[in-house]
Amino acid sequence: MDSKALFDEIELALPEVPMPINAELTFHKTDCLQCEYLRNELEENRDKEITGKLIRYLHMELSCLSSASWRWILPHYLKFSLTPEAVRNTFETQSIIFNLGPDPAFQADTKVRLSSLNQKQITCLVHFLEWLKNHTHWNEYCPEDIDGALKFMRSLTIYP
Ligand SMILES: [Zn+2]
Repeated sequence: MDSKALFDEIELALPEVPMPINAELTFHKTDCLQCEYLRNELEENRDKEITGKLIRYLHMELSCLSSASWRWILPHYLKFSLTPEAVRNTFETQSIIFNLGPDPAFQADTKVRLSSLNQKQITCLVHFLEWLKNHTHWNEYCPEDIDGALKFMRSLTIYP
């Protein structure tokens, strides 16, 4: 699948949705300072354009986002990963690969974070990882991580 076809699939499978309400933004609702800080930071960005700067900030916080926030940010994040800027920076794309291929100890939490996604959207993530695997830069940069993520994400699809 080429970049254009993947972009079109992202647009189709993951239409943009509004940012979740404050209480629904993070993985931990209470008693977690990191999630509280993240909620405040996101609140400052409410109703603003989602820029590369926000994506760059969020790449370290993906595991602190709720399932609703994953659904919200994914279309922006995936489309960002298709830009030349993402190849230059590498961290944002690398981070989502890590987050989609968790160690066994973190797989249950990851499934919760992906629980707002339907099968079409999970399949879109598999196609995104396949696109990375066929990408000259990414396939050289972190092939094992991409394979790990593909294995985990394919395990979540009913029709792989
Ligand atoms: Zn937390």
